[in-house]
Amino acid sequence: SCGYNSSDLYETQEFLMGTVVLQKIYHENAAEIAKEVNDRIAEIESTMTINKPGGEINLLNDAAGKEYVKLGEDTLYVLDKAKQYAEISNGAFDVTIGPLVKAWGVFTDNPRVPSKNEIDELLKLVNYKDINIDFENSTAMLAKEGQIVDLGGIAKGFAADEAVEIYKEHGVKSALISLGGNIFTLSGKPDGSPWMVGIRNPRGNDGSYIGIVRVKDKAVVSSGDYERFFEKDGVRYHHILDPKTGYPADTGLIGTTIISDFSIDADALSTAVFVLGLEEGMKLVESLDGVDAVFITADKKIYVTDGLKDTFIFKDESKEFEY
Ligand code: ADP
Ligand code: MG
Ligand code: MG
Repeated sequence: SCGYNSSDLYETQEFLMGTVVLQKIYHENAAEIAKEVNDRIAEIESTMTINKPGGEINLLNDAAGKEYVKLGEDTLYVLDKAKQYAEISNGAFDVTIGPLVKAWGVFTDNPRVPSKNEIDELLKLVNYKDINIDFENSTAMLAKEGQIVDLGGIAKGFAADEAVEIYKEHGVKSALISLGGNIFTLSGKPDGSPWMVGIRNPRGNDGSYIGIVRVKDKAVVSSGDYERFFEKDGVRYHHILDPKTGYPADTGLIGTTIISDFSIDADALSTAVFVLGLEEGMKLVESLDGVDAVFITADKKIYVTDGLKDTFIFKDESKEFEY
């Protein structure tokens, strides 16, 4: 026998959903399990992306204002979740933001600042209430021609939850998956200790942190103005748009992190509270059971929800932040 020790760590990285997918798995056959997870994530990407042709969301968008289209279980589930988070965030999270994401060219090599006129015109297409879902027939339709659903703020969260399902099916007791800023920890480390997840310094390099949360069986999802941005005339334009203005959200936050039981919720919420700002975002998170958050403001202050007071460790090597 090869003497495999189940406490050995298997680690692998793959580029999927526009980001690096890192898996750390403690289990026999970890390589096969990781492959199954990567295949599942690739499937979710091709179903839900609007950055490549094909896929269900492209079908939905192409049929906007025209007809209902048949959708699979995954897409219907994510669309429904997206609507729920739009409702509870008062439209701060709104996946019909697509026309504006396209206009800003956030994901292209040529991002630009659209004119105020263009923004105001496109804002008329942004309204999550125009996502009509017919669960009986497994179909959906966008009310107006030109409307575009962009699941960039929630699909990675769904993918992380699906990865965890696969780990559980294989009896994996301990694993961590990270899709960009979306992290899920399955259980704790093999020795029973919690995973230590760093909260990124939004103004530092990749790998520089302002603190750590100790977690088991939790999603830890971050959003920030540092993930994707461009600068023009000294102004930083980032990829999280405020559906009320059509411009990058400018509520005094530079980073948000949500900790919850499912990654899909954490992903939607991290984007939502980034748009809502500290006060409203804090209010929303404190109103939800089993959800915690870290907020980082532009003036470099860190705020955490009550539930995190014991698990958040402030550790800022840059010495620029205040907690
Ligand atoms: P990341 O993709 O960097 O992890 P988020 O999860 O915060 O960041 O999602 C940001 C992405 O979601 C954007 O790139 C865009 O595709 C989409 N998006 C931008 N603004 C909003 C919004 N207000 N509501 C929902 N989705 C948004
Ligand atoms: Mg998100
Ligand atoms: Mg995210």
